[in-house]
Amino acid sequence: KADSAMYKAKEDGRNNFHFFTEEIEKEALRKRQLEQDLNRAIENQEFELYYQPIETLDAEVISAEALIRWNHPLRGLVSPIEFIPFMEETSLIAPLGEWILKQACQDAMHWDHHCSVPPKVSVNISTRQFQNQNMPALVKQILTDTGLSADRLTLEITESLMIDDEDSTIHQLNSLRLMGVALSVDDFGTGYSSLSYLKKFPVSYLKIDRSFIQGLPNCQEDSALVEAILSMAESLRLQVVAEGVETSSQANYLASLKCRYIQGYWLSKPIPQHDFCNYLNTKLNSHQSRT
Ligand code: C2E
Ligand code: MG
Ligand code: MG
Ligand code: MG
Repeated sequence: KADSAMYKAKEDGRNNFHFFTEEIEKEALRKRQLEQDLNRAIENQEFELYYQPIETLDAEVISAEALIRWNHPLRGLVSPIEFIPFMEETSLIAPLGEWILKQACQDAMHWDHHCSVPPKVSVNISTRQFQNQNMPALVKQILTDTGLSADRLTLEITESLMIDDEDSTIHQLNSLRLMGVALSVDDFGTGYSSLSYLKKFPVSYLKIDRSFIQGLPNCQEDSALVEAILSMAESLRLQVVAEGVETSSQANYLASLKCRYIQGYWLSKPIPQHDFCNYLNTKLNSHQSRT
C-alpha cells in the first residue's frame, strides 16, 4: 500500500513538472511570437502616434502628448501597456523609441499651420532608452533633421530613471535641459518616496498621476495629496499638470487649487494626428470668433 502511494505521488510530481514546463514553454513561445510580430511591425509601419492635448484652465493648448498605438493586422488596435514593457525588456525599445521621437517632432512641425502659438510635443521616454543610448545626441540629431526647435520638445520621464542616481543619467538630463528641451516627471507620486531627486535633476514639470485625480473633489486623502504636491511644486518653481481629468467637477476643483495645466478625457481622448490638427483649427476659429 505504502509503495503504491509512493508511486502515485511520483506520478503526480511528474505531471506537475510536465505542467510547469509546458507553461514556461508556452510563455517563451508567446514572447518569441511577440518579438517577431514587433520586428515586422516596425518594418511595416504598423505603429501610429496619437496625440492628447495638455491645456491651461483657459483652454489654451500648451502641449500634446504623443501616445503610441499599434495597428495590428489581426488583433486591431493594441494598447502600449501590452507591448512597451516587453520592448523595454528586449533591445527593441531603441529603434522604436527613435521612430517615436522622430515622428512626434515631424508631426509637431505641422501644428504651426493650425494655430497661432503652436503647442509643444511631449514624448514618453523609457528609462531603458537612457541606459542604451546617448539621448542628448539622438535628440539633437532629430531636432536638426526635423527642424523643430528644442523649446517645443518635452520629454516625459519616470521617477525610476532619477532614482538610479547614475552620473550618466544626470549628465544626459543636464545636456538636454541646456539644449532647451523640457523634462517632465510622469506619473508623479506613484514611484518612490524620496523626493531628493527633485533638487538634483533639471525638471520643469510634474504630472500628478491619474490615481490621485480620480477621487477629486470628494476624497479627502486625494485632495490633501494634490494640494500638498501643488504647494511643494510652487516652492520648487515646478509647473504641474494634472493627468486623467475626466469630469468638470475635477477640473473646477483643480482650478480652485490654482493647478495651471490639465490633461484628460474631459478635454479630449488621445486622437490621430489628422484629428489633432482639426482640434487645433477648431480652437483657433472659436478664439477668432470671440475676438
Ligand atoms: P502615460 O504616459 O502616463 O499616459 C497616460 C495614459 O492615460 C494614456 O494611456 C492615456 O490614453 C490615458 N489617459 C489619458 N487621459 C485619461 C483619462 O482621463 N482617463 C483615463 N482613464 N485614462 C486617460 P495609453 O495611451 O494606453 O498609454 C499607457 C502608457 O504606455 C503611458 O502612460 C506610457 O507609460 C506608455 N506609453 C504610451 N506611449 C508611449 C511611447 O510612445 N513611448 C513610451 N516609452 N511609452 C509609452
Ligand atoms: Mg506620459
Ligand atoms: Mg502619465
Ligand atoms: Mg499615468
